[in-house]
Amino acid sequence: MTLERYSRQILFPGVGEAGQRKIRQATVGLLGLGALGSTLADLMTRSGVGRLVAVDRDIVEPSNLHRQTLYTQADADAGLPKAVAARKRLREINPDVDIECLSLDLGPDNALDVFEECDLILDGADGFETRYLLNDVAIHLGIPWIYGACVAARGMTATIIPGATPCLTCLFPEPPPPGSQETCETGGVIPPVATLVASLQATEALKLLVGDRPSLRRGLLSIELWPFRTVLIGESALPSPDCPACQGRKLRFLAGSAESRSARLCGRNVVQIVPREPLGRSLRELAPRLESLGRVRTMEGVLHLEIDGLTLTLFPDGRALVRGTDDPGRARGLYSRLFGS
Ligand SMILES: [Zn+2]
Repeated sequence: MTLERYSRQILFPGVGEAGQRKIRQATVGLLGLGALGSTLADLMTRSGVGRLVAVDRDIVEPSNLHRQTLYTQADADAGLPKAVAARKRLREINPDVDIECLSLDLGPDNALDVFEECDLILDGADGFETRYLLNDVAIHLGIPWIYGACVAARGMTATIIPGATPCLTCLFPEPPPPGSQETCETGGVIPPVATLVASLQATEALKLLVGDRPSLRRGLLSIELWPFRTVLIGESALPSPDCPACQGRKLRFLAGSAESRSARLCGRNVVQIVPREPLGRSLRELAPRLESLGRVRTMEGVLHLEIDGLTLTLFPDGRALVRGTDDPGRARGLYSRLFGS
């Protein structure tokens, strides 16, 4: 490794040569290679981490390109898995870094294997439930993770150190019901909010990697870019003494007992998704929000949406049938993008 590549970063007193060596020795995990994940992977790779382990289950689609900065038109035309396209691009950016991009649907069965060697995990997930799984994984492994989320022109981030700061369950005891929150599919998103939130996450990651914990930003930061407003809450908050996850170590999402989106193949090219909780909104409320995405029909008390070559049939209790794929991960990914669960 030539240090010349990192000379401007080493000149910054917060990093220095000793810090750069620590960055070089680190393994960083990343969940999601979408909008946040693109910028996170790019910044970690350019910063010269030793190894990056990134996971994503989706393929590159044209509607990703305005904000997912790792990908090109050619990647979308070829329908490449994000993990494949990202690995190629990241290798071109910095061949010093050991890049491992896995095309898989992170779940309780594989999450520990994926992240067990990581020093910290960055959150670029697109659904709430995977974040609770990530929270459980970080508590189990005793490593920090950096929460990040964005939709429309809003973003949120928090640095979570199990035992030292509130964890995700301390902050929000339960994931929101499916469909109750906007997602990038239903509420849209502007690119700068994603790159901004990811940049904030990457900065905290660098502080952790060089071992400068006193400089970490504490609390949950909310940013609204349009119009501009920031709110920082819980700067001096400690873990909640009765948190079942970080204090009681009941890791429901890692144990699989809380997994809401049980998805299984039922018949040829049909996957059924059964959420743990009912929908947070009625089909009548959801229909207009889905109309910009594909053809929506509501009949006989169910909603049909044609999207990305798939037909999603949604029942009032939140159960869904996704026709046109035999891949439960793809169906779960679609459900998660639409309803945030
Ligand atoms: Zn907690």
